[in-house]
Amino acid sequence: MEKIHNYINGELVEPISGNYLDNIDPALGQVYSQIPDSDHRDVQNAVEAAKQAFPIWSQMPTEKRSAILLKIADLIDIHLDKLAQAESIDNGKPIKLARSVDIPRASSNFRFFATAITHFSSESHMTDHIAINYTRRDPIGLAGCISPWNLPLYLFTWKIAPALASGNCVIAKPSEVTPMTAFLLSELCIAAGLPKGVLNIVHGRGEQAGQAIVEHPEIPLISFTGGTETGKKIAATTAPMFKKLSLELGGKNPNIIFEDCDFDSALSTTLKSSFANQGQICLCGSRIFIQNSIYEKFKQALIEKTANLTVKDPLEEGAQVGAVVSESHMNKVLSYIELAQKEGGNILTGGNQVTLEGRCKNGYFIKPTIIEGLGPQCRTNQEEIFGPVVTLTPFGTEEEVIQYANSTPYGLSATIWTENLKRAHNVAHQIKSGIIWINCWLLRDLRTPFGGMKQSGIGREGGLEVLRFFTEPKNVCVKLS
Ligand code: NAD
Repeated sequence: MEKIHNYINGELVEPISGNYLDNIDPALGQVYSQIPDSDHRDVQNAVEAAKQAFPIWSQMPTEKRSAILLKIADLIDIHLDKLAQAESIDNGKPIKLARSVDIPRASSNFRFFATAITHFSSESHMTDHIAINYTRRDPIGLAGCISPWNLPLYLFTWKIAPALASGNCVIAKPSEVTPMTAFLLSELCIAAGLPKGVLNIVHGRGEQAGQAIVEHPEIPLISFTGGTETGKKIAATTAPMFKKLSLELGGKNPNIIFEDCDFDSALSTTLKSSFANQGQICLCGSRIFIQNSIYEKFKQALIEKTANLTVKDPLEEGAQVGAVVSESHMNKVLSYIELAQKEGGNILTGGNQVTLEGRCKNGYFIKPTIIEGLGPQCRTNQEEIFGPVVTLTPFGTEEEVIQYANSTPYGLSATIWTENLKRAHNVAHQIKSGIIWINCWLLRDLRTPFGGMKQSGIGREGGLEVLRFFTEPKNVCVKLS
């Protein structure tokens, strides 16, 4: 059985304990590889390597650092098919999605930040004739980057690329549920000539390897993406140490459909924003609010399209819906469907596990599910399900839907469908979330800030915001006269 390794000090190494965890292919429901069950000793080795590497990496001319990161981007592109296949097997996502979105975005992350640093400079201010001020932006030193399983290489590189580009050395931990593409990336980093110790990848469980990174006194910065409960633990652990923290957490995003929308685009995009990646994208619009006058028509059209989605072996080209990531996650999603029924919800389509024939007969598949008849305050409409499950709720006025949209503890993203420009901006202005899409969904520009409000997190990734996060400003004042 294939074993993957940690990447520490430029080498692929076994965990010090010699212990491994099983890694399961969710489409087959079978163990297919083993990953290091790393602990604080592996993290300590990664920290030592990163400390050694920091002076060389942080003082390397920007153009040279940029060239190495661009080489990693090129290698990701060259190995697109291999990485996409690995991502699909590890995560259960349709191969087409991995090939067209996840892996291209991983190389874009490296290319974008490798280029951005060549334009990112210190600021200077002539205050008056007495003094000149300039503000340096220096790398922090060692950065801890921890990422989730839903978009494995996409989100892993969304953190490590800006951290490395700004001159930091990194100790990173991908999710133990989907470690494979991060492991393949370590091989590409070696091939690209990334100096040893600059990036260290420690595999293993969150409460052991992740916790060791979060607690380590020599890692002053943590960039974390994952669940809100884990985010709270990390915030509590790091608070007394005054670590710099970025938290990208859960969401329960509203998708608001006004009667004056472009019906066909709202419908086809809603299908994607509900069920892409089996609904396992933090930005999925899991609460769909539809204005009364078009409620029945939109509902019927969405049910028809949803019922026609093909749930299939994710490695087959025609798969639109693949497997959810694990058996425990499947059970969690199914238990929310049960809860919705207890809360008075009516299942309009789906609502059950799907058993496929052939090699995927033991896989973790769920039929895309639409539920109606639930109040905005019930648990199904308040808690993040993170699966192929959406609820439909009718509304009358703008004021009412704004209130519904803002009624959860989360504030990650929202989508608004209307052809009325004034209404679109007014509603966008009043919704408390970090990202608002008007007449689109998941249209991303890497220059823009990305992140959530309320319990969806603190801090922003993307563009200049993240380069500021991974650097420390230092003002220097020189007297002129
Ligand atoms: P999770 O919080 O269980 O795990 C995320 C990562 O944290 C994993 O690598 C895990 O091993 C690690 N971890 C777990 N406990 C830890 C601890 N005590 N200390 C340090 N590290 C620890 O989340 P998940 O189930 O992997 O991912 C799903 C969640 O991620 C959902 O809530 C989803 O909304 C969220 N998410 C948010 C965004 C965003 O940008 N806001 C993007 C994707 C996913």
